[in-house]
Amino acid sequence: MKVLVINAGSSSLKYQLFDMETKAVMAKGLCERIGIDGKLTHQGSSDDKYKADVPMHTHAEAIKAVIDILLDEQWGVIKDMSEINAVGHRVVHGGEFFADSVVINDEVVKAIEACIPLAPLHNTPNLIGIHACEEVMGKDVPQVAVFDTAFHQTMPSKNYMYAIPYEYYEKYKIRRYGFHGTSHKYVSKQAAEMLGRPIEDLKIITCHLGNGSSIAAIDGGKSVDTSMGFTPLDGLPMGTRSGNIDPAIIEFLAEHEHMDAHDVINILNKKSGMLGISGVSSDFRDLDAAIAEGNVRAALAKDMFNLSVKKIIGSFIAAMGGVDAIVFTAGVGENDRSVRWDVCEHMEYLGIKIDPEKNKFRGRQMDISIDYARVRVLVIPTNEELVIAQDTERLVNEMAGN
Ligand code: ADP
Repeated sequence: MKVLVINAGSSSLKYQLFDMETKAVMAKGLCERIGIDGKLTHQGSSDDKYKADVPMHTHAEAIKAVIDILLDEQWGVIKDMSEINAVGHRVVHGGEFFADSVVINDEVVKAIEACIPLAPLHNTPNLIGIHACEEVMGKDVPQVAVFDTAFHQTMPSKNYMYAIPYEYYEKYKIRRYGFHGTSHKYVSKQAAEMLGRPIEDLKIITCHLGNGSSIAAIDGGKSVDTSMGFTPLDGLPMGTRSGNIDPAIIEFLAEHEHMDAHDVINILNKKSGMLGISGVSSDFRDLDAAIAEGNVRAALAKDMFNLSVKKIIGSFIAAMGGVDAIVFTAGVGENDRSVRWDVCEHMEYLGIKIDPEKNKFRGRQMDISIDYARVRVLVIPTNEELVIAQDTERLVNEMAGN
């Protein structure tokens, strides 16, 4: 089976074509500036990248451009569109409707629409991507939605409720949802495999640290808590996001800077976090370069990030009554050894100790704890696209009765 994985944003669309027999990525690429002019970057079987200006007024035109390049004589990897057996879509918000991935039908589309108020910037383009694929590829090609929120639907209510009047949960479904679920699920499964133990017997804390960052507590294979909340603004300070702050700051800033709540939230989303504190960049590599030159605010930003990760790990250990493995994943978690080191420093009393030699490696799956440590600290590169492709294959096979 060949599965096309689509991650549609408001003006961009990422794609990967998987051959599920080998789990190999046959081709991947990115459409940018959809609705403006249109740029396509594509990589097929060779290492060379194809880059071109391709008019993309709509997402349907972007999907057409993707299909065209997949069929292209020089850059393509398939001979006919019918070779694509199914499409898997990343959908950010499934609300309380979806605890697993699902084959898309009219009812599913309605439920994704109903979640738009919870994630307008994400679910809207996700839906446009779904409609665009149907328009270009026809109704017979099954499409599957894989939700960022689904994995966290197992959280108990004491962890997902906010202590605000209960009626707001009933009226608006205001609660913690959590995000990056596909990644947390994937790396926790990989961790159990690495440890050679059934996931049902393990308490795992997964740290997805990238541009956006979240941590999840996974007990017996189920997400029981996570740091992101009602929106992906909650939890850790991130590249440009503040993470959790005293909510009273919002009114204070609105009053003193003559802004409304929307403007303040915009600042908390786009001008805060590592960028806001350092004044240098949201990118951890830039922070490291600035720190090397003695930039005190860049160092403060990173110290704040590391301490927040440590505190959330500590709180999840306390809530779960222990931990067997801590996983670092995503851009920062996989690559930044100083983050891993600082987060795990002085945690020997909990059985956590990293081996500085093993911690030097980056971007590859490995156990970086010292041999005698009771808690295993693992680096596991995430692969959300593969999970989307695998879920799509599983659901399409189930639908076909295989
Ligand atoms: P997202 O998917 O949320 O956009 P990623 O998981 O790709 O983010 O992570 C991106 C971040 O990873 C970058 O902003 C950068 O700070 C960090 N990163 C990537 N490579 C390195 C590296 N070699 N060292 C330190 N940080 C890195």
